[in-house]
Amino acid sequence: MDYKKLADLLFPDAKDISYYLEKYPKREKKDGEEILRFAPSPTGFIHMGSLFAAFVPEIFSHQSNGKFILRIEDTDQKREIDNGIENIIRDLKNYKFIIDESPMNEGKYGPYIQTKRKEIYLSFAKYLVSIGKAYPCFCSEESIQKMRETQQEKKDRIGYYGKYAKCRNLTYEEIEAKIKNGDKFVIRLKSEGDFNKKFIFNDLIKGKMEFPENDIDHVLLKSDGLPPYAFAHVVDDYLMDITTITRADEYVSSIPYHLQIWEAFGFPAPQYAHIAPLTKREGTTIRKLSKRKDPEAAVSYYSEMGIPVDAVRLYLATLLNSDFEMWYMQNPEKTISDFTFKFNKMSVGGSLFDLDKLINISKVYFSKKSANDIYEETLEYSKDYDRDFYNILLNNKEKVIAFLNIERNIPRPRKDVSCYSDVKKETSYIFDELFNEYETPKKEFYDSEILKEYFVNYYNKEDDKDTWFKKIKDLCPKFGFASETKEYKQNPEKYKGSVADVCEIIRVAITGRTMTPDLYEILKLFTKEQINERIKLFDEYLQK
Ligand code: GLU
Repeated sequence: MDYKKLADLLFPDAKDISYYLEKYPKREKKDGEEILRFAPSPTGFIHMGSLFAAFVPEIFSHQSNGKFILRIEDTDQKREIDNGIENIIRDLKNYKFIIDESPMNEGKYGPYIQTKRKEIYLSFAKYLVSIGKAYPCFCSEESIQKMRETQQEKKDRIGYYGKYAKCRNLTYEEIEAKIKNGDKFVIRLKSEGDFNKKFIFNDLIKGKMEFPENDIDHVLLKSDGLPPYAFAHVVDDYLMDITTITRADEYVSSIPYHLQIWEAFGFPAPQYAHIAPLTKREGTTIRKLSKRKDPEAAVSYYSEMGIPVDAVRLYLATLLNSDFEMWYMQNPEKTISDFTFKFNKMSVGGSLFDLDKLINISKVYFSKKSANDIYEETLEYSKDYDRDFYNILLNNKEKVIAFLNIERNIPRPRKDVSCYSDVKKETSYIFDELFNEYETPKKEFYDSEILKEYFVNYYNKEDDKDTWFKKIKDLCPKFGFASETKEYKQNPEKYKGSVADVCEIIRVAITGRTMTPDLYEILKLFTKEQINERIKLFDEYLQK
């Protein structure tokens, strides 16, 4: 058969691929520079799984000083949703992705939306026909359906292969007649694989894998001229000069087929890294994190809660390489871009998505931030999510910053804030309008007399910390408390409690809580009037 003639018959108008090969020359890459892409379909919102799938190529490209590309895979238009592309770009921007080429900032290798690349696919399909590696198939949907039913009945493998591949051996004349008749056709790969032979593949994450060779003549180009995923990704990844393909591991079993397409073109295939899904523990089982079942799979969950984007990114980094976490804890001044990630340290079976861990990382992240930054960002967050607190923040900037500065710039800073909404929870007692109840159960030694005596005759805002504490100790014996904890422990029957208990009375009376940052610093945030008011409230609470 004269394949060249056949190719011209099927695609009289398609350009020769040399046109595109010249138009998209290989990039001038420096040593080690990697080009990676995230290639989502615009079928829904970005969720944690897709954020992670985007994070992986972004990290690996930028850590090599290469490029991170966003390509929209929209050839399956039945699944597309309105504003799908805009939503993806918006979410990636919100999550601080640095995208070097995309539909919004086209580089030399565009278009970056597959439906705009239709002519390119036609030309590449034509090329494969012209070298005898692909052929037109005129089988109707119904006849394919019938074929499948027969295969099911006979317990044969499903697919267009071997004796089932009816159009594989059509003559030029038969094809010409069908074309003249206006019959629709798809283009299929003329597979040279043998299902009984083993295909060995080395994945960057999963290592060496074995599959049967592919012998199915899959569809490369549909009758509407658009390609299914497999063909499109090969053409695009080749022309965009992608060095490593990262994608979900649901595609790994198709690798023998995908590599056949590269081989049919005679293009060297890039490396593939198949990413295991994010998983979740449910009771004793582990399952895939689900965008339908798990609220924490939605990115909006984090913005509503006020977990900063940078904290989510830090958590994604721990999912990428689990040793990142330890490194980050040990190198508090460093950040993600200072770490060298490796594909072979990625999880093979699935990374456990653990919200508690994300929250912990966020606490560490907040503990390293300045009080001023936390204040400004919380203000920004509250503007959208909590107008009342926004106004409180606006009117109390110094007080909030002073509060946030307590136990902050020290080697082991406090870790009580994991998200912007925690700032309200943690500061609520310093504001009269938010302080409404004593959260702690009353204890026997709680006493408002000692409190009154303390604030009338002992407490002085100007005292340094040692003097402040000494005064509390001095007060203890007057009310039957031991000034030293040791003394109390040796003779508990002689006392109502110790100096620690007196501090607890003061703390609970003023803040309503048994746990707060440093009491000496906390008291400084209160005016005399506020303290008197709290003593009154504490009195009422004790009498209830
Ligand atoms: N468009 C494919 C998807 O959304 C991406 C596959 C790939 O990254 O190659 O699943």
